[in-house]
Amino acid sequence: MFSSSQKKLISHFESCVKSGTLRQSYIIKGETGLGKKTAAKKIAEYIMCENHSACGKCGGCLSVKTGAHPDYAIISNEDKKVIAVDKLRAMKKDVFTKPIMSKYRLFIIENAHLMDAPGQNAILKIIEEPPSYAVFIFICDNLNSILPTIISRSHILDLEKWSSEDLKIALPLPKDKEYMYSYSMGSIGSLKELSQDEEFADLRNGVIKTFVDLMGTNELSLYDAIDFWLLNAENKEKLIEILILFLRDVMLFKTSLPNLVANSDKLKEIQAVSQKITLNKAFEMLQLANDAPKMMGKYGNFKMAAQTLLIQLSGVH
Ligand SMILES: [Zn+2]
Repeated sequence: MFSSSQKKLISHFESCVKSGTLRQSYIIKGETGLGKKTAAKKIAEYIMCENHSACGKCGGCLSVKTGAHPDYAIISNEDKKVIAVDKLRAMKKDVFTKPIMSKYRLFIIENAHLMDAPGQNAILKIIEEPPSYAVFIFICDNLNSILPTIISRSHILDLEKWSSEDLKIALPLPKDKEYMYSYSMGSIGSLKELSQDEEFADLRNGVIKTFVDLMGTNELSLYDAIDFWLLNAENKEKLIEILILFLRDVMLFKTSLPNLVANSDKLKEIQAVSQKITLNKAFEMLQLANDAPKMMGKYGNFKMAAQTLLIQLSGVH
């Protein structure tokens, strides 16, 4: 199952292969978790297929699938650290071997944003003047660290986020987990991770419950909220993310857009809070939550920052 954006990308390559207009260097960029590598593997089948159709049956397609195609190489770094310059130097050498099975010699460079300057310099020449059969596909999260020479020689293609319709087809979830589609923010990778995260449901329930109580009149609720946040300190990013999405939901509810809320199973809680605070207050709280990571950096310790945030939230209300 591919997203609409993946399909668009793949069909771009399909038509280039069929019309013989394939370029020599491409950059596919997009956030982590959108399925760049999965799309690239399909693209490789189109490029290496003997029938130019990713038929899945010819020698080209089959060897791409098993990773045994002599004209196809993936340069990767599973540890997500800098791509060793040696790997790129080896690719530079390898590119001058003429293709054996296919018309092309294809190199896919995964996590290309992790190539350092010496690594990129090592391959500049072959990107500038590649042998006619060579095709490079750089896959990266962003272009920030890619040398301008490589960018200018490459055709840049973006992979967009997944629509919630696509996510629902790719990974059907039971009703009580449907909120995860919103939390995944259009990333199939995040959605898969989230759906296997057994702690997440408890975290979300806890953040929302303690926040709803905080907006009530019980004076002990501040202590309970602080306790809960400190107990879950190792998940601080998630705590903040849940709070931000919940506050956003309160604002959507107040502006009569309840069908857009992320926590669709928590309408009762969203409504309870939205009756107690004005839109401005909700906005003020959202800003506090957004600033929380910065505050943690400033205090250098989570405890102090979480306490301050929760005291401020209860004070705003
Ligand atoms: Zn084929």
